[in-house]
Amino acid sequence: MIKHRTHTPFDAKRQALISQLKQRGIIDQEVLRAMSEIPREKFVQPSLQSQAYEDSALPIDERQTISQPFTVAFMTQALHIQPGMKVLEIGTGSGYQAAVLAEMGADVVSIERHPKLSMQAREKLNAMGYQVTCRVGDGTIGYQGGAPYDAIIVTAGAPDVPEPLARQLKIGGRLAVPVGSAKRQNLFIVTRHAEEQWQATDLGSFAFVPLIGVEGWEEDVR
Ligand code: SAM
Repeated sequence: MIKHRTHTPFDAKRQALISQLKQRGIIDQEVLRAMSEIPREKFVQPSLQSQAYEDSALPIDERQTISQPFTVAFMTQALHIQPGMKVLEIGTGSGYQAAVLAEMGADVVSIERHPKLSMQAREKLNAMGYQVTCRVGDGTIGYQGGAPYDAIIVTAGAPDVPEPLARQLKIGGRLAVPVGSAKRQNLFIVTRHAEEQWQATDLGSFAFVPLIGVEGWEEDVR
């Protein structure tokens, strides 16, 4: 979607990462294209830019993380994103996942509980030309103002599926949410089949920072 980038020393590293993602089973061509367009080095701390294309999570401000590229690709692929879909992200963090969704043509609302992270992400996304609505608040209750959504992605680990999020899905919509302990979770895709019918599929083990909020963990969880 955004075609203004010039060549940088990071291009070769980015393409190597895309090859790794393919080897690990990412086959959605639009996910791969979006991630090959987006300069992840701009979403990490300047001192960590040399590590931007290692397949690992990295620290950002407020003791949070930018997710591992494989995790971003895997969750996005599992949501079957199509252009024009309404997508809600919980946990803006660095803004990188929101950029991937916007690059794929989704209409993205992203909620972050730390105002500083939300502001930094909004500035970066705007500067890159991505029209993402960044909101500050407790994403465990979703954002009724934009509901219903085709897809909801929760990028922090929850103790259970937050019910308000399941209820803000369209019929046929998909929710990706890591559920488990504060340190280790399984990624679930919850599909809303009918007004009162949801089905959860377990896609395996991941590790996210905790989802803090009324439908998540308490602030001091360990
Ligand atoms: N998606 C992010 C990215 O691309 O950089 C990674 C997010 S990081 C793994 C998880 C984020 O969720 C953190 O920034 C954290 O502050 C945020 N978070 C945790 N609980 C939240 C809540 N209830 N509402 C909104 N954001 C929350």
